[in-house]
Amino acid sequence: MSDSSSSGGAAAAPRGSAPPSVSCRDVRKVYAGAEPVVALDGLDLEVPAGEFLALVGDSGSGKSTLLHLLGAIDRQTSGAVAVAGVELSTLTERGRVLYRRREVGMVFQFFNLLPHLTVRENVELPRRLDGGRDAPDRAAALLDRVGLARRAEAHPYELSGGEMQRVAIARALVTGARLLLADEPTGNLDSRNSEQVLALLDEVRRERGVTLLLATHSREAARKADRIVTLRDGRARRSETRVPGSRFQVSDPEDGELDGTPETRNQKPSR
Ligand code: ADP
Ligand code: MG
Repeated sequence: MSDSSSSGGAAAAPRGSAPPSVSCRDVRKVYAGAEPVVALDGLDLEVPAGEFLALVGDSGSGKSTLLHLLGAIDRQTSGAVAVAGVELSTLTERGRVLYRRREVGMVFQFFNLLPHLTVRENVELPRRLDGGRDAPDRAAALLDRVGLARRAEAHPYELSGGEMQRVAIARALVTGARLLLADEPTGNLDSRNSEQVLALLDEVRRERGVTLLLATHSREAARKADRIVTLRDGRARRSETRVPGSRFQVSDPEDGELDGTPETRNQKPSR
């Protein structure tokens, strides 16, 4: 780990010219409360720079929790979470703010657009918060890229779900973030719009050099990724890598199963 120095901790993760790698080592997340909930339970995960990784698993398996840790909107209970070699827990509060503002973009199931702002204002906002005078130019270019330049002055409630998600993707990228975290981005879309949004995510990550993590319970959506990791009970249980012919091959099964058919996914491990 390259976190030997924490001086100058106000700096966020390095803003490199390359997309970041992601590394999770023995990560536990316990939500405190009358009944503590173990959401992540010794999760290990390595994501190479520029990969499109799909996280699948039943509801409650820890997908959103993991994305919240990677987005620095929550902290792990123990273990190491590093982005571009920087352990996020070594960042100061200010460093975390800057990291959230600049390094990482998030896309959610329910879009999370601000209803009283126009499409253009929604996309400009993260860049404006960071003091960027180029916010209008960047927002215009991104709205053009996602095919919504003509709707820039509309409000979110005037858009379809698919359009709102394309706005959210533009907003996630406007700061120049190189890590894109998408949490069930197609969960509220019909199949045609889901296709469009997934294709757009894949295209922009290639064009811009972005590492993309997609949490989804849809096997269909996950098949767009380079690799599919299944979470179960807060651990990464199996990893399937795309091989030529749009098939997936189990690469390091913790379960020891070699059968990658969707039908077996939700069965309990046989041990
Ligand atoms: P997924 O996104 O895969 O459905 P989550 O990461 O949302 O899973 O949830 C993992 C577990 O943590 C679940 O048991 C869930 O109920 C619990 N959980 C998630 N967020 C909180 C929270 N803020 N407080 C308490 N428990 C939570
Ligand atoms: Mg979730």
